[in-house]
Amino acid sequence: MTQNNIEEIKNKICQIELDDNGEIYRLNISDINISIENNNLSVILNFKNSDLAQNYDVFITNKCTDIIKEINKDFEVTIVLTSHENNNKSTSNNSNNSKEKQKKILNPTKIEGVKHVIAIAAGKGGVGKSTLSTNLAIALSKKGFNVGLVDTDIHGPSIGKMMNINKEPDFKDNKIIPHKAFGIKTISISAMINDDDKAIIWRGPMVSKALNQMMAGTKWHDDNSISDKIKNSLSKGTTNRNELDYLIVDFPPGTSDIQISMVQQYKFSTALMITTPQDISILDVTKAIDLFRKVNIDIMGLVKNMSYITTGDNTEKLYPFGEGNIENFCSKQNIDFLAELPIDSRISSQGDAGEPFTSKYWEDPISRIFENLADRVIEKYN
Ligand code: ADP
Repeated sequence: MTQNNIEEIKNKICQIELDDNGEIYRLNISDINISIENNNLSVILNFKNSDLAQNYDVFITNKCTDIIKEINKDFEVTIVLTSHENNNKSTSNNSNNSKEKQKKILNPTKIEGVKHVIAIAAGKGGVGKSTLSTNLAIALSKKGFNVGLVDTDIHGPSIGKMMNINKEPDFKDNKIIPHKAFGIKTISISAMINDDDKAIIWRGPMVSKALNQMMAGTKWHDDNSISDKIKNSLSKGTTNRNELDYLIVDFPPGTSDIQISMVQQYKFSTALMITTPQDISILDVTKAIDLFRKVNIDIMGLVKNMSYITTGDNTEKLYPFGEGNIENFCSKQNIDFLAELPIDSRISSQGDAGEPFTSKYWEDPISRIFENLADRVIEKYN
């Protein structure tokens, strides 16, 4: 790495635009400190306020890593964000102007090889995101679509277990080759780390690196690429078999910097929200809805999980947590109430067994709920 390379890295970092309350903010050369030790290149970025550093932690780490890797891919990169000044947010007195600037900055990346990216989000763990993700993916696949599934729940990944994936993926041309499980191209962080690594506390840059690798660093489309000529001759709406029709993203719980960076960084087609009937889950799903709305991502609707139990003869639904609250919530929020799923021990035992419910019990009435959801998705994009 030469001095010129270091100057080039600094100049490129200075070109990264951030949204500071409607104003464009860029780092100055003097805010960037680069040091090299053996094979490790450390970048310290000094932000004018800690809010900015926090909001853009993952985003800026990814951008800087890309810039450095473009110049020399052999270095281990460490990015540290600091702030030595108080938060003194300036507010713009021209709101129209602010909106223009915001639009310019929020420029999320399209994931290569994928037509539609669908976030399954709840703002909370343990409410059924992974269960919905796996079963919706299988229902879409059973309808003949090319489907991918990515587990971005870094702190509680369950897709690996649910899809019975327990070995590391292969790499080709610096890209992860996803596993194929039940016909779905699947990638989960749990398959990429061994037990010892689980003790590691995932700090911002590591989380961002892992997420970036799984979302954008995975080879979602097939290798046997078709020529542009054939591609152009495909009539509109015809499936290009090389691309994924749908990438289902099991979205991380919470609404802090990881989640904010995800929605700022990647182009999501829609978000499908899920909650259980309890107030505590509704509170968190409300925050998640707000997050997607803030960045203008379409919200397809809400699924109510663990809504009811059926009587032995399947004739009656019993609602242990009450009835109607989620439907009311949806109308207040002006979002579609998409479906309700029962509490059924086979759903959880199939998750634990590594064969999702819809794979084992496709003929069961519960699978019709997932099938109807898949139909809603297909309708939306046809
Ligand atoms: P999340 O992804 O939101 O953390 P999971 O999908 O992992 O939630 O679900 C949490 C647990 O609840 C899992 O053990 C799962 O099998 C179980 N579960 C989810 N939905 C149902 C359901 N409708 N009936 C029974 N068990 C369920």
